[in-house]
Amino acid sequence: MIGLPFLNGHVAAVMGLGRSGLSAAKALLASGAEVWAWDDKEETRVLAESQGIPLVNLATCDWMKPEILVWSPGIPHTWPRPHPIAEKARKAGRPILCDIDLLLRARSEASYVAITGTNGKSTTTSLIGHIFKRAGRKVAVGGNLGTPALDLAPLERPGTYVLELSSYQLELVPSAGFGVAVLLNVTPDHLGRHNGMEGYVAAKRRIFDHQPPPATAIVGIDDEHGRRICEELKSLARRVVPISSETRVAGGVHATGGLLIDDRQGLNESVIDLNSVRSLPGRHNWQNAAAAYAAATESGLEQGAIVEAIRSFPGLAHRQEFIGIKDGIRFVNDSKATNADAAEKALVCYDAIYWIAGGQAKEGGINSLAPHFSRIRHAFLIGEATPAFAKTLEGRVGFTQCGDLATATRAAHAMAMQERIDGGVVLLSPACASWDQFKSFEERGDRFRDLVSELPSASEGA
Ligand code: ADP
Repeated sequence: MIGLPFLNGHVAAVMGLGRSGLSAAKALLASGAEVWAWDDKEETRVLAESQGIPLVNLATCDWMKPEILVWSPGIPHTWPRPHPIAEKARKAGRPILCDIDLLLRARSEASYVAITGTNGKSTTTSLIGHIFKRAGRKVAVGGNLGTPALDLAPLERPGTYVLELSSYQLELVPSAGFGVAVLLNVTPDHLGRHNGMEGYVAAKRRIFDHQPPPATAIVGIDDEHGRRICEELKSLARRVVPISSETRVAGGVHATGGLLIDDRQGLNESVIDLNSVRSLPGRHNWQNAAAAYAAATESGLEQGAIVEAIRSFPGLAHRQEFIGIKDGIRFVNDSKATNADAAEKALVCYDAIYWIAGGQAKEGGINSLAPHFSRIRHAFLIGEATPAFAKTLEGRVGFTQCGDLATATRAAHAMAMQERIDGGVVLLSPACASWDQFKSFEERGDRFRDLVSELPSASEGA
């Protein structure tokens, strides 16, 4: 837990008592602050109170007393409509911030690597954390991924916090500046919360605010928003490392075709062929690897150690997670692919796919995946989306209506065994939410892993 001695004896309001709010309230209490905690949901308040968190109704309290308002990023405060509690704090001139801002105030001696982007945040954050660990550096990894900021271990210099940050969190860091900040990509998302694309891009751009010199901005330039931000930062004479997985970029790090090239010194130096790294398949992961490499080198890590760590990265569960090989057939768990865009990232990686798809479909279904249908040997459909997906596939891809994941996994394995095609992959990449049959995409992916381990096989290996 992070100590917050500068708030000892001060009144701090905490709004939202989910994981990060509870962690903030506990860190504040342990630091001797007077905590006024609240949540709009009664059952959440009751749960917090049972853990010793003092409640004060922030909608009706005297706002002259609290000095800060620690806000849970998941709760809308400005858009689509202003939250009355946030409005009261603003009127009283109280800063509204999240736990990330408190972490940086508390551990100002430590180093920071912060990562944001519409997609790839968790993969890149974990990869950077893995690189730091393998290089023998003291590191703590958390934020939007895994451990809430104030539950991380207290680190001194030369320790490094590697933090995944969402656009919601970035709106709530009024003073935090990160020594190394990464923006991977920006595509439309969460527009209701940010009052449209401009607001969303502005929130992402905040990762580069208040960066303390010497600082580095690492910017993905494969979309127009990233390109614009990159040019803007360069015009401010900031140290900027552009990254790309699509084009060669002078003075930056790029990975076209999977070959990671470092051109920061203008030397066009080959670093590693990412095609040989099984845990980072696909062009999207080349972008993540380029960003992680740039962040690690800009933090002073040795190239050799970084390359070794990229090679040994185990990958994240449920994101094209390689489960194993049975009888020459690969099994890949991409349960996190809850929409067609995410499933596309996996489909483009393989040529002979036994595709398990379905669940609760998103708008548009799988129509956008038609250009990749030729890669699919057969589709095994599950869940509510079955009739809609069957209609889209009709006459283009053979499919079987399997109903549930267990039936689909066995049927896909049986067909792959029968066909024995080189490079055959049984891929769970559902292009759907899981909620019709599972509690979460994690539960769906875990079940798939179990089902694969129970499959009969003649020989086994990985
Ligand atoms: P996030 O934490 O931003 O949600 P993850 O690293 O968990 O991202 O990856 C989630 C999914 O997003 C992956 O399974 C893949 O489909 C897609 N993805 C990952 N990295 C990228 C990237 N750099 N660009 C586009 N899509 C990506």
